[in-house]
Amino acid sequence: MISQDSRSRVLSGMRPTGRLHLGHYYGVLRNWIELQNEYECWFFVADWHALTTMYRHPWSVESNIFDTVVDWLASGINPTVANIFVQSKVPEHAELNLLLGMITPLGWLERVPSYKDYVARQGEGNPPNFGFLGYPVLQSADILLYQAGRVPVGADQVAHIEITREIARHFNFLYGKEENFQQAAEGAIRQLGRKLGALYRSFVVAYQEKGDAGALEKGRALLAEHPSLSIADRDRLSGYLTGGGRMILPEPEALLTDTPKVPGLDGEKMSKSYGNTITLRDDNDEIATKIRTMKTDPARIRLKDPGNPDKCPVADLHRIYSDEATQRWMTEGCTQARIGCLDCKKPVIDAVQSEIRPVREEALRLENNRDYIGEVVGKGIEKAREAANRTLIEVRDAMGMSYY
Ligand code: SF4
Repeated sequence: MISQDSRSRVLSGMRPTGRLHLGHYYGVLRNWIELQNEYECWFFVADWHALTTMYRHPWSVESNIFDTVVDWLASGINPTVANIFVQSKVPEHAELNLLLGMITPLGWLERVPSYKDYVARQGEGNPPNFGFLGYPVLQSADILLYQAGRVPVGADQVAHIEITREIARHFNFLYGKEENFQQAAEGAIRQLGRKLGALYRSFVVAYQEKGDAGALEKGRALLAEHPSLSIADRDRLSGYLTGGGRMILPEPEALLTDTPKVPGLDGEKMSKSYGNTITLRDDNDEIATKIRTMKTDPARIRLKDPGNPDKCPVADLHRIYSDEATQRWMTEGCTQARIGCLDCKKPVIDAVQSEIRPVREEALRLENNRDYIGEVVGKGIEKAREAANRTLIEVRDAMGMSYY
């Protein structure tokens, strides 16, 4: 369950990797621009997350943060409605990360697919470190600190939110009980008898520690069918089963977002590390040169060779930028070998140029206005610290750590 306040709050972050490209624009920013008018949005630059892989060269992080914020604002993120801040300037993230790290079983982290992949690839030259293993805990702290009920993700990232939900559930289970809750729940378990009591406990462990939804169902059925439990004990054990009691950290929900496929110039996913990007600051000549040399269907060697748009990344760009008539022209021209690839690329070049032009011009203006960027980020940090501190007061209270 998440509270109404949490429901209206969205949190999302981005690693500072430098100037942003069309992949960021279509994969993240356009979605944020819509969300900022619908929800209370917290957008942060995840500079500590960047260190999990950039720890050898942290010196570029500062200028990357600046470029990231400039591109956010130039693209249409509005700092008067969305809170923009930098993760490391809100040290509460580190404190909550540490506290959640204490309650997170190692097995939960080791089974995260991105960690397993990373280990298998030997960290692509960066041996997997403690920071990378603990990445989902820090990510959970980022979300739970603001009690954000919604986290925008693509379908392939829902698992990332699931671990945050598990950690929040576990925290609430451990620290969200009234004073004598544990004692009362233990008494009620004894009412179930030895055999059923042990079975019930196994359901609690399976649900609380492994997120096994089947165990939750079975536990509920067991309680519903047991005739001698009082209503109060049944409620108590239902709460005990789900980690009920006082909810301190609301479980966030994934806000599924549909984003178009943005191919890089080589047909792979657009990414700075692949060197295949069209950035939001490229000028018209750079855009034209990049798209003119972009990979196409290799079957189209000569003009008279028919092609297949499904094998061509330029066609993916047409799907983003072109109207139906132009897409039909592209498909027929390609499959019937009636147009050349350079002709086919022309409408895409025009569309990308006219989309990027105002973003680039605004970015250039903002780039020369460091004081304004500092002011925007400074205000965001102040608000973020206030909100984060409110959560940490509750967390410390619940854990009995509000001493001195
Ligand atoms: S005609 Fe267009 S869709 Fe076909 S291969 Fe060339 S660039 Fe790609």
